Amino acid sequence: KVKPLNELKMQLESRSVNEGYARTAVSAFISQLDPTIEELNDIRTSVSEAVTNCIVHAYPESVGEIYIWVGLFDDGLVRIRIRDRGCGIADVRQAMEPLFTTLGGERAGLGFAVMESFMDKVRVRSVPGKGTSVTMDKFIKGRGDGQG
Ligand code: ATP
Ligand code: MG
Repeated sequence: KVKPLNELKMQLESRSVNEGYARTAVSAFISQLDPTIEELNDIRTSVSEAVTNCIVHAYPESVGEIYIWVGLFDDGLVRIRIRDRGCGIADVRQAMEPLFTTLGGERAGLGFAVMESFMDKVRVRSVPGKGTSVTMDKFIKGRGDGQG
């Protein structure tokens, strides 16, 4: 794909307190595309799920780094990549099935299902012991009513 018109790169520690910051920072960056409230909420929720997964699954007993990249493209495409260097996922296909969780009793197993329903495309790459990368695309149609 061509080079984005604008990019955000950020890195933060996998502490629960940082989840809200990640969600708000990404949504503030995307605001320049003039998205609808619904589009923004879809993105906020998806970022929240992916970042929470880094916090609770990738680095379960420790604090590690979360790398977030956002690219804005001229056709209204927003691409968000959330990456960790944590434990990785043995079977990505199984992990992405609704209701599958390795933290039964604590978690619903719906994070990936939520991301897939709110975003246009979700790709997960993972290497056990090395880390996981979740890339999500959404086409922003925007308000387009000139009302700011
Ligand atoms: P919920 O998101 O509903 O609280 P969940 O996190 O278990 O529950 P998903 O977000 O769909 O459900 O993730 C499914 C499973 O994939 C997790 O239980 C975990 O085993 C694995 N997983 C997801 N993200 C990561 C990650 N970044 N690193 C390691 N494992 C992950
Ligand atoms: Mg989850």
